[in-house]
Amino acid sequence: MIDKKEKVSVITLGCSKNTVDSERIISQLRLNDKDIIDDPEKADSVIINTCGFIEAAKEESINTILSAVELKKSGQLKKVYVAGCLSERYMNDLKIELPEVDRFFGTEDYKNIVEEYGGDLKYELLGERELLTPKHYAYLKISEGCDNPCSFCAIPIMRGGHISKPIEKLEQEVNLLAAKGVKELIVIGQDTTDYGKDIYGKRVLGDLLNKISENEDIKWIKLLYAYPSHFPDEAIDIIASNPKLCKYIDMPLQHISDNVLKSMRRGITKRRTIELIDKLKNRIPDLTLRTTFISGYPAESEKDFKELVQFVKDVEFDRMGVFDYSPEDNTVSFDMGDPISEEVKEERRSILMEIQKDISFQKNNSLIGKQMEVVIDDISEDRYIARSRRDAPEVDGEVIIESPEVYLEPGSFNTVEIYDCNDYDLFAKLNSK
Ligand code: SF4
Repeated sequence: MIDKKEKVSVITLGCSKNTVDSERIISQLRLNDKDIIDDPEKADSVIINTCGFIEAAKEESINTILSAVELKKSGQLKKVYVAGCLSERYMNDLKIELPEVDRFFGTEDYKNIVEEYGGDLKYELLGERELLTPKHYAYLKISEGCDNPCSFCAIPIMRGGHISKPIEKLEQEVNLLAAKGVKELIVIGQDTTDYGKDIYGKRVLGDLLNKISENEDIKWIKLLYAYPSHFPDEAIDIIASNPKLCKYIDMPLQHISDNVLKSMRRGITKRRTIELIDKLKNRIPDLTLRTTFISGYPAESEKDFKELVQFVKDVEFDRMGVFDYSPEDNTVSFDMGDPISEEVKEERRSILMEIQKDISFQKNNSLIGKQMEVVIDDISEDRYIARSRRDAPEVDGEVIIESPEVYLEPGSFNTVEIYDCNDYDLFAKLNSK
């Protein structure tokens, strides 16, 4: 049993879904009179909200746990707790390998965490979150888990099957966030396009986006983690017509050759992928399309890779990321081994990113002289770091405003004129008109 004014530090690793989980943990602990502090070296206990997605993320999680264990051994910390995906996935092994850890929790294991601190879960306040993002934007996690059978992915092992959050609950959450000053929502889930099929019997992502846009304080909404094989048609027109819904879609494709898509169990073909992209671009003017690919998947031949290279050149995505294939135990593709060397994976990734760099530069260059609305994220030295409707936080480029005459409040929306660019960022000056 730990006394009431315990100082707790919550360390968040991994993706934006983990960020939301940590925000809930922090809010619940604070509601149970715990002090939440940033620095684990000054805390009585630490909760590490881990990531278990791929090898690199697992390593980072383990190293973070080991550092906390060192702090405990040196007497600076009383308790070390581990939660999140890595813990959910490998709890029994971790208990054996890391006996210094006081307790392991799963994903979204709020009740057990709060009770470990002698408190009780405030169910009615589970929508409450203490934001870890700048106060003017927040991630809105609309569902948990995933029903897709992607051969390489361990997320369903850690997060379970797809569960949508009821619209009323999300509306409440949006109202709470807006009341805190949030103006931009980043809609996330493992597969946002599956929203509603479990609780409403059909995919109703479009209706949800319209509903949450009704909050008058919310100005921008961006959609991430769309899944290509079942993109709800009605959502396309809703994104196109609703002014608060940024013409921004993140849709990981992972690959394009039919041979690889089949092996990855993505449930879509090259032809249907291209048809979907054409449909999105035709029906949503000025669409900003983000995607991610995997390089070096076991079944990827040189020919498959060349096909992907040509596809990236042809489509010209606005934003693109590439991850090296990481064999994950208990996934379908794990049994295929890891035949493609790290060097080749890296080489293929850099070839793709080199192409994307040029595409991104051309697109940025075409914006010079244009006006656009941006939100101020941060101030560093004499420049403002901002984002436009084309930029999601943490993953996309920025709009940099060099030393304007006036002070710009973080979270404020301003119209700027683009006067320069580099591969990924834009340089702007405040619109004097
Ligand atoms: S859509 Fe595929 S890659 Fe994404 S979380 Fe689900 S199983 Fe994993």
